Amino acid sequence: MPHVVTQSCVGDGSCVYACPVNCIQPTPDDPAFEHAEMLHVDPAACVDCGACVTACPVDAIKPHHRLDAGERAFLAVNAAYHRTPRRRPSLAPVRPPLRVRRHDRPLRVAIVGSGPAAIYAADEILTIPGARVSVYERLPVPYGLVHAGVAPDHRRTRRIARQLDAICADPRLRMHLGVEVGRDVTRDELLATHDAVVYAVGAAADRRLEIPGAELPGVASATELVAWYNGHPDHADRAFDLSHRRAVIVGNGNVALDVARILTVDPATLEGTAIAPRALEALRASRIEEVVVVGRRGPAESAFTLPELIGLSATPGVDLAVADPADAFAGIASDDPKLALLRGLAPAGDGGRRITLRYRLTPARIDGGDRVTGIAFTRTGGGGAPTAIDAGLVVTAIGYRGMPVDGMPFDAATGTIPNDDGRVLDPGSGEAIPGLYVVGWIKRGPTGFIGTNKSCSQDTVRALVEDFNDGLLRPAEGRRAAADRATA
Ligand code: NAP
Repeated sequence: MPHVVTQSCVGDGSCVYACPVNCIQPTPDDPAFEHAEMLHVDPAACVDCGACVTACPVDAIKPHHRLDAGERAFLAVNAAYHRTPRRRPSLAPVRPPLRVRRHDRPLRVAIVGSGPAAIYAADEILTIPGARVSVYERLPVPYGLVHAGVAPDHRRTRRIARQLDAICADPRLRMHLGVEVGRDVTRDELLATHDAVVYAVGAAADRRLEIPGAELPGVASATELVAWYNGHPDHADRAFDLSHRRAVIVGNGNVALDVARILTVDPATLEGTAIAPRALEALRASRIEEVVVVGRRGPAESAFTLPELIGLSATPGVDLAVADPADAFAGIASDDPKLALLRGLAPAGDGGRRITLRYRLTPARIDGGDRVTGIAFTRTGGGGAPTAIDAGLVVTAIGYRGMPVDGMPFDAATGTIPNDDGRVLDPGSGEAIPGLYVVGWIKRGPTGFIGTNKSCSQDTVRALVEDFNDGLLRPAEGRRAAADRATA
């Protein structure tokens, strides 16, 4: 009876190292790991020991006989990955432990931000005996997108907070909540008391849709809407007009699916979740019946992942359909699992709450006078008549974007801090700036899952420790008083 990885997989690789027969793939050393949508148990090799179940921080792995109806599709998804035989060692290769060659003083690191990338970096640093970490978070609550980004009804994914709590319980880690670096304490003050400062500030803004009408009332970004329903203090007082029967979401990544689901599920199913009470109240009064999720390319290029699509297709009380399937799938021969699921969806109906996926539409103009009345698209690649969709709410879900950090170099094209393996680079000289590092989305851009940050942070910490060993970091001793004063 094999075990099965299901929707809430965060891809941190914990299960891989727990497995005694290395049957969970891809492993973090595999180049496929970085872009994998989830990990997969090989049903033919699984010895049913359950070690992976214990190791998974988000309870994503279940024995085959405990899958509920909505999860059964994951048995085939896990098995399909292993249909192509791959050579693998008997155990997943483990990274060698960090080695510190300097023992004259302990390593002290400040981390700016407290999302998963920050806490995974802290976890790695704290593997070094005597090392100390200070985490600075501007909000009164830690863990960034774990609270502010993960959908409130994704209860299992949110359990990652338990693992982050366990890491932060180390007495060598000090968490400074409500302290903004740049306002309450400066970078130079942190550098004066620490060997290094690691920026883990994420991608706080959203990409803007630059078309006429984008500024009309009734147009919102997914970043705002997600922050609102998750009770983020910067957005808790927002109000969104949910009085029209249709909303349109531009972009079809996982964020778009989250927003579409929250706007269409029976609000009763959100009770008892982490949803903000004001948002739940607004959703109870909502008149939205249909959310149209629009991709500018075809179904094969859908940006959402297979696990999220499976989860969405099994959402009780919400119909999911592809509009005009004959046109959407025209010319697509491939039948990969995502396309097969999309093709197998029942045709769109016009009753009940529903999510409709539309393809090959490029947003051209948002219509309305004093507020939004709809959105017009052209067919991507030309040809065909323009398409207009009536809607009272248009949500742009076209990706997050990193914001410049005061006093730090910034690459406006990628929305990241320029870096080499996490070492911040001076754009003028191209040389690493001693003591400054990055992890997470501000390092590599807004892609991947919570667990993707683990290997990203481990790589940066490895570079940091190399620099510490090579004597490239400034000695911290004797310069502690200034920052202690600043954070007191
Ligand atoms: P995303 O996956 O990058 O998707 C962005 C979408 O916006 C794509 O469909 C993209 O189309 C479209 N787009 C970009 N510019 C556009 C434009 N000018 N006009 C029309 N469409 C445009 O971004 P995301 O959904 O914000 O997700 C960010 C990351 O967080 C992803 O790695 C995602 O998997 C992750 N995440 C995961 C979960 C989960 O696992 N449950 C939940 C939320 C987020 P093209 O593909 O054509 O560029």
